[in-house]
Amino acid sequence: MNLKRVRILKKCNEKKGAIVYWMSRDQRVNDNWALMFAQNLAVERKQPLIVIFCLVPYFLNAAIRQYDFMLKGLKEVEHNLKKSNIPFLLLSGEPGRLIPEFIKDIDAGVLVTDFDPLRIKRKWKDNVGENINIPFYEVDAHNIVPCFYVSGKEEFGAYTIRPKIHRLLPEFLEEFPQIKKGKVQECSFKFDNNWESIEKKLKVDNSIPKIDTIKPGEKAALDLLEDFLLSKIKYYDIDRNNPVKDSQSNLSPYFHFGQLSAQRAALNVERMDIPTGMKQGFLEELIVRRELSDNFCLYNPDYDNFNGFRLWAKKTLNEHRQDEREFIYSKVEFENAETHEDLWNAAQNELVITGKIHGYMRMYWAKKILEWSETPEGALETAVYLNDKYQLDGCDPNGYAGCAWAIGGTHDRAWGERPVFGKIRYMNRNGCKRKFDINAYIEKFGNNKLP
Ligand SMILES: Cc1cc2nc3c(=O)[nH]c(=O)nc-3n(C[C@H](O)[C@H](O)[C@H](O)COP(=O)(O)OP(=O)(O)OC[C@H]3O[C@@H](n4cnc5c(N)ncnc54)[C@H](O)[C@@H]3O)c2cc1C
Repeated sequence: MNLKRVRILKKCNEKKGAIVYWMSRDQRVNDNWALMFAQNLAVERKQPLIVIFCLVPYFLNAAIRQYDFMLKGLKEVEHNLKKSNIPFLLLSGEPGRLIPEFIKDIDAGVLVTDFDPLRIKRKWKDNVGENINIPFYEVDAHNIVPCFYVSGKEEFGAYTIRPKIHRLLPEFLEEFPQIKKGKVQECSFKFDNNWESIEKKLKVDNSIPKIDTIKPGEKAALDLLEDFLLSKIKYYDIDRNNPVKDSQSNLSPYFHFGQLSAQRAALNVERMDIPTGMKQGFLEELIVRRELSDNFCLYNPDYDNFNGFRLWAKKTLNEHRQDEREFIYSKVEFENAETHEDLWNAAQNELVITGKIHGYMRMYWAKKILEWSETPEGALETAVYLNDKYQLDGCDPNGYAGCAWAIGGTHDRAWGERPVFGKIRYMNRNGCKRKFDINAYIEKFGNNKLP
């Protein structure tokens, strides 16, 4: 495999012992560069391979909704690994403490993990790195072009990262190779994961309903991808901004939990025998926009707060701080869909009920939170809070980039000046009316009350 996907987090002398893959962001067995790298090391060194997942009892604002989806996917990972005789261990607690303890207990030789630009994940890795003395590698199994390779700085927007990604795609958008031939050493450790008792230790909000309409796991992800390519991609460009039509792929929860590789999706799209024009829109979102979000979170430590906005955006928002707001709502009022506007309330209801607002309405939803909040800081906090708590694909770089785009002009340019927004791009109800049948949307979600 291309070793540019790998970077070393801790250099140490090599020693004999099992190769441990600490699975975190990329929760799948197929098309997983990090697992492949670990497995290749195990074959080369004739050592056993062990996969571990460390379940923290709470994570940012995620609720039982997201945990439930993730745990079901992880059970499938355990099942699939078993077929290849690779043991899977579910740990429960703080990774910074548990992983070094485990490494010591089994006298492991190498630790491998997958890449994630979020602060909390990097902190965990720092803590682990400080407490082990074996080599520790990180593999970007999430992006097609490795995030730390494509650019060494925060990009201004899609227009600056796009040429860099496109230049490197011929090198990185490659088919996944077979695992190196040879046998991984039989593992003498046997783990019996007690899922039930670990689930009981969760300290998350149990009141947010689980989502039954989106089936978790690697198999379901591949089925949905196939279905999208067969019946929907042709209309993606024309209809994707119409929230009344079901024209998006709905794959984001699978990408978020790493149950599906974006590279797999891109390869399958590339192979399709349809005009290039029908593929481009989807590939732009899947590759350029998604990888731009990872770039934003990797290089901007303030990706989820006002300080992370560009200078021009901070300046214009500061100049409009005192502007009179026609409506001001609290976080709770937003959360309960208690604004004066049926269209916005419908979007919030869609979020709470389905776990996924349509992409176009996500923009409108966050823009109005800016318009109806007392401060831009408060607006961003509300948007991030609701996004992470209710979206099945929340707590994701795409979410932080999306909220920063809507409220702080991140990756966007300055527009005509107007109250409250300053030069941040504005959206309104009439714009929605021109794009789609807002009454049909309101009818669908408007009258639904919180379950
Ligand atoms: C305020 C706001 C909040 C958002 N929150 C999230 C979030 O929490 N999690 C999340 O994954 N996306 C988020 N997005 C980005 C985007 O809206 C969703 O990725 C998309 O709607 C998911 O639906 P889909 O998989 O059907 O998308 P499709 O349109 O089918 O796109 C396919 C894939 O491309 C990527 N993609 C599409 N649009 C974007 C985008 N604008 N930016 C980055 N990547 C994109 C996603 O990985 C998506 O799954 C947010 C956008 C905004 C404006």
